[in-house]
Amino acid sequence: MNSTMIGSAIILVLVTVAITYTMAHNSYNTMPSIAPTKKGASVLVLGCTDPRYANALSWHLTHSDELHADYELFTLGGASLGVLQEEYPHWSIAFGVHVDLAIQQHDIQEVWVFDHMDCAMYRTTLGLEVDDEAIHVEKIEELKAYIKERYPALGFRGHIIGTDSSITRVL
Ligand SMILES: [Zn+2]
Repeated sequence: MNSTMIGSAIILVLVTVAITYTMAHNSYNTMPSIAPTKKGASVLVLGCTDPRYANALSWHLTHSDELHADYELFTLGGASLGVLQEEYPHWSIAFGVHVDLAIQQHDIQEVWVFDHMDCAMYRTTLGLEVDDEAIHVEKIEELKAYIKERYPALGFRGHIIGTDSSITRVL
């Protein structure tokens, strides 16, 4: 083994130690801890499966003064439209089962829906050239009526996530 190889081996070891130390002492320690004794949640959040908006939604839910970690998350393509559309009827059944479980197991009080702009589910299902905020508001209102009919005691809020990751409450 020549001196270059020994030098490379030492650098590799040092880099490995540095990465391991950083992961152990920084990244994981900044993650919120899981509270094993925590029971229940106030809100069931319904979001879309679109990966572009997952970070904005989780950031908002984590940092919202009202919510922090006091929620459970359910996602369907199209969020509100995912429940209302009829092409995949099992989606609304799955949503209903999870609302039932969320009431029974976690004592949720409200459902919060987060639609987002530029949603492929909206464009394909409704045949839209361009996604339209007014149509989201209409569907969120329909979802509110749908939930109120089945679960009159549950509160409801509707939001839209913009393409700039801003979140606006619309209902
Ligand atoms: Zn979407």
